[in-house]
Amino acid sequence: MSTTLPVADGRSVRGYARQLARRHPRLLWSALALHVAAAVTTLAAPRLLGDLVEAVETGTTAGHVDRVMLVLAGFVVASAVLTRYARYVSQVLGEQVLAELREDFVSNALALPVGVVESAGSGDLLTRTSRDVDQLGWSVRWALPEWTIAVVTAVLTFGAALSVGWWVALPCAMGVPALVVGLRWYLSRAKDGYLRESATYSRINATLTETVEGARTVEALGLADEQVRRLDDDCRESYWAERYTLYLRTVFFPAMELSYLIPTVLTLLTGGWLYTRGDVSLGEVTAATLYVQMLIDPVDRIVSILDELQMGAASLARLLGVAQVPDDREVTGRKPDDEKLDAHDVRFAYVPGRDVLHGVSLDVGVGERLAMVGPSGAGKSTLGRLLAGIHPPRTGEVTVGGVGLVELPLGDLRGHVALVTQEHHVFAGTLRDNLALAAPGADDDQVLAALDAVDATGWVSSLDDGLDTRVGSGGRALSAAQAQQVALARLVLADPHTLVLDEATSLIDPRSARHLERSLAAVLDGRTVIAIAHRLFSAHDADRVAVVEDGVVTELGSHDELVAAGGSYAALWDSWHGRG
Ligand code: ADP
Repeated sequence: MSTTLPVADGRSVRGYARQLARRHPRLLWSALALHVAAAVTTLAAPRLLGDLVEAVETGTTAGHVDRVMLVLAGFVVASAVLTRYARYVSQVLGEQVLAELREDFVSNALALPVGVVESAGSGDLLTRTSRDVDQLGWSVRWALPEWTIAVVTAVLTFGAALSVGWWVALPCAMGVPALVVGLRWYLSRAKDGYLRESATYSRINATLTETVEGARTVEALGLADEQVRRLDDDCRESYWAERYTLYLRTVFFPAMELSYLIPTVLTLLTGGWLYTRGDVSLGEVTAATLYVQMLIDPVDRIVSILDELQMGAASLARLLGVAQVPDDREVTGRKPDDEKLDAHDVRFAYVPGRDVLHGVSLDVGVGERLAMVGPSGAGKSTLGRLLAGIHPPRTGEVTVGGVGLVELPLGDLRGHVALVTQEHHVFAGTLRDNLALAAPGADDDQVLAALDAVDATGWVSSLDDGLDTRVGSGGRALSAAQAQQVALARLVLADPHTLVLDEATSLIDPRSARHLERSLAAVLDGRTVIAIAHRLFSAHDADRVAVVEDGVVTELGSHDELVAAGGSYAALWDSWHGRG
C-alpha cells in the first residue's frame, strides 16, 4: 500500500535539533570555545605579516624578521593543536547526539501501531532506518562540525578584517549580491536536477538487469532490438539529465568564484587608493587583503556544505516523522473486573472505506474453547487480531472484564490476551533474553519452568551454555520446532488468560507437529482459547463454533447444534467429513 509514514515539518525539526544541542551543554560549549580559539590563532598571521611589510618598508633587521617568523610558527603550531582538540570534542559530541537520535528513533519505531507499519509497508521504515540514519550520521559527524567551524572562522576572520579598518566592509559587501543570487539560483534547481539524474541511473540499471535476468525470454521473443532501443532511450535521458546538472555547475561555480574574487580585488584597489591618500598604512592594506582572501575558504565551505545540511535536515524530518504517527491506544488506567473477553458490534477496515468486518459481536466465556471457521478471506484472522488487541476496531469495542483493550497499557494487555501465530521470531541474544522479553522480572527458575511446561527441557539442557546460549542471527540456529517452543514458553511466562490461535502448528513439519501439539496443549491448559480453525476436526472438539462469513458471524453454537441446524457449518462439515 502506498500510504507512507509522516514527515516532520521544519519547525519540529528545528525544535528537536535545539533540544538535542541543549542536552550536552558542556561538550557543545567546549567544542565551540576550542574552534574559536583555533580560528583566532590562525588570524594572527595576516596581522604579523602586515606589520612585517611595514617594518621592511621603514627598514628593519634580519633578527626582527626571524623573531616575527618564530612567533608565526608558534601560532601555526598552536592552531594545529587547538584544531585537533576542537575536532575531537565535536566528534565526541556528534557521536553522542547520533546515538541518542538512533535511540529516540528506535523507541519511536517500536511504539508504532502495528496497523500503521503494515499499511505503510516496512520498506518506508527500513529506508528511514538505513538510508536516512546514514545520511544524518554523515551530516552530524562531518557536515555539521565542518559547517560550524566554517561559520566561526568566517565570522572571526571578517571581524579581524574589520579591526584593520571599517573600510574593508565595503569590498566584502560587494561580493554578497553575486553570492546570494548565484546560491539561490543554484539551490532552487539543484535538488530536482540531481534527483532526476539519479533517477535516470536507476532506470538504466533497471533496464539492464531486467534484460540480463530475462535474457532467454528476450532472445526467445526477439526483443533484443527493442531492449537496445529502450536502453538507448534511457542513456539519452541520462545524458540530458547530466548535461543539465553540468550546466548548473558551469554557472554556479564561476558565479561563486567571481563573488569570492570581487572582495579581494576591491580590497586591494580600495586599500591602494586609501594608501595613496595617506589614510592607511601599507601594513594595513596587506593585512586587510590577506584577511579578505582568508574569508574565501570558510565562505566556500559554508556554501558547499549547505547542500549536505539540507539533505541531513530532510532525513531528520523523516526520522522525526515516525514519532508523529498518532497512537492508536489510549491508556485510561481502568482495571478489568474479570477475564471475560467480549467483542461488541465491531467493524474494521484495513483500507479506509472498505470494511472487512461488518458489526461482529462475540462473547467468549471464561475457559471456553471457541473455534472460528469459515471460508478463506471471510475475516477470521482479522477478527482474531482484533480480539488480541493488535488492531483497534474502527467502531465498536473489544473489552476484557469491561475495559477496552485499547485502554490497557501494552504490557498489561499481553498479560490478558495474546495472539499465537506461526511467526515466531527468535531475537538475537541469549535464550534467557528471548524468554525474559515476555516477563522482564522472571528469574532462571521461572524461565526453566516455562521451558519445561512446553516440553523443551530436553534440548535446552543439552546446550553447553544453557540459558546463556546465544541464539538468533549470529548465534546458534534453532529449528522451527524449537523456535516455536521458545515462543510458547514466552506465552507461559506472559501468562495471559486468553489465547487467540491462528494456524498455530499447521506449517510445522509433521514429525515435530505431534510433539509441538503436546507443548501447545500444555500452554492452552486452563486458558480461554479462541482457535481459528483451518482444520475442522479442531472445531469438532471446541465448546462452541463461530462461523464467519463475509465479515460477520453467521452461526454460533456447539458442533452438534450447528450440524443439526443444517446451515453453512453443516454443509462444510458434510463435505469435509465426506472426504475425510
Ligand atoms: P481469513 O482469516 O478468514 O482468511 P482475513 O481476516 O485474513 O480472512 O481477511 C479478511 C479480508 O481482509 C480479506 O478480504 C483480506 O483480503 C483482507 N485483508 C487481510 N489482511 C489485510 C491487510 N493487511 N491489508 C488489507 N487487507 C487485508
